[in-house]
Amino acid sequence: MKIVMKFGGTSVGDGKKIRHVAELAKSYFDKGDQVVLVASALAGVTDELLEIACVGCEHGKVTAVTEFIASLKTKHFAAVNDAIDDKEIKAGVIEFLTSRIDELEKALIGICYLGELTARSRDNISSYGERLAAPIVSGSISSLGVSSKYYTGGEAGIITTDVFGGAKPLQKSYDSINSRLTPGLENSIQVVTGFIGENEEGNITTLGRSGSDYTASILGVGIKADEIWLWKEVDGIMTTNPKIVPSARTIQYISYQEAMELSSLGAEVLHPRAIEPSMKHHIPVRVKSTFKPDFDGTLVISENKKSKNVVKAVSMIKKISLINISGAEMVGYIGKVAGIFSILAENNVGVRLISQGSESSISFIVNETDRAKTVKYLKAALGDSYNIDFRSDIAVVAVVGAGMAGTPGVARRVFTALGNENINIIMISQGSSEYNISCVVCSNDVNKAVSALHFEFELDKPDGNN
Ligand code: ASP
Ligand code: MG
Repeated sequence: MKIVMKFGGTSVGDGKKIRHVAELAKSYFDKGDQVVLVASALAGVTDELLEIACVGCEHGKVTAVTEFIASLKTKHFAAVNDAIDDKEIKAGVIEFLTSRIDELEKALIGICYLGELTARSRDNISSYGERLAAPIVSGSISSLGVSSKYYTGGEAGIITTDVFGGAKPLQKSYDSINSRLTPGLENSIQVVTGFIGENEEGNITTLGRSGSDYTASILGVGIKADEIWLWKEVDGIMTTNPKIVPSARTIQYISYQEAMELSSLGAEVLHPRAIEPSMKHHIPVRVKSTFKPDFDGTLVISENKKSKNVVKAVSMIKKISLINISGAEMVGYIGKVAGIFSILAENNVGVRLISQGSESSISFIVNETDRAKTVKYLKAALGDSYNIDFRSDIAVVAVVGAGMAGTPGVARRVFTALGNENINIIMISQGSSEYNISCVVCSNDVNKAVSALHFEFELDKPDGNN
């Protein structure tokens, strides 16, 4: 099989973990699979890079930069020591990392003196996490006796738009990925940095936070992979959070669309953006655990296999606020809703759920961190003729599954299950895809609601299709 495997920051958190990753990749290569490996930055490093870039910029603290660089060096050199046995390979990787770290130090000191951090330099700085991690992974593989080559996203052919911090691949990337990575696949493991690409001028761009899954998906399309594997520290996509419901199971098959709905409704296993390229090209995405390599995990595919349980998973969103706008002025006023949402868009507020109860009121959910500015800007723009209230003691519980579409009685089961637990429903939303029903409940009730719905749809019992 031709596989793109992605390992996140926790999986490559230190030298021992990197060695485990290298051994895993080698085991598949030895079995005859062709492997492109995508590596994220060591856990926490991207955050640290972004933070030090700000400190340097806002406070011009050169000493903070020097201290940071020293600790970054220690961390990565320790990882090299634990991940790579072969002396020559080790020395080569140390030399390579030393020059990268020197470059980074100069860039950070430059920012201290300039007191300016552009979006382009922020991307450049934050790219170093991956550019330091992936060479160690590649060295670790070579040290196990398998030939391996290291590429930055740009070197691997990912050419992107100019949107620093949220770049997207240009169409021509796919051919260039194929011509750069495919020839070496027979006899080596190709290791590519996650999260980064290059614009047409050759400047480093990043694909958005947690962008390494996206990288894997893009490369998978480029090399026409049979599957894309996202290795995580969980067994796959679960029927719900096992910390809340211990009998939660791994879902065997889920469609891209179900997985996307689930992610946007709080299950943080996959970013919708990350599955988009694979979805378009029908490349299955597997979510697997580094702790249990022999376990198949979850396969995300095009087909909507309807499960007999109807619902496939229960998710929830916490740390959100409900905003309610009401007033007689809303009735019959065409364009009012558009006006409200453009105020939110102008102020960079994302809306997570919407419900319009009647023409005279509209309710929606935003992240709690956006609540204050949402209320402030709406009040300023809409004036006194509207009531604008909010509630922050709430959470969303959602049931998701393709089996719900066209099946009567699902909503009744949801409401009865919640009612039997004495849980009050504050707001309801169902998209016309019918792949989810979402209810806003009191945050005190949300765990109970998740358990009740998991039980109602018997999600602890496998039913063949999920
Ligand atoms: N290292 C990047 C981040 O932390 C990308 C990733 O982890 O996927 O956002
Ligand atoms: Mg990360």
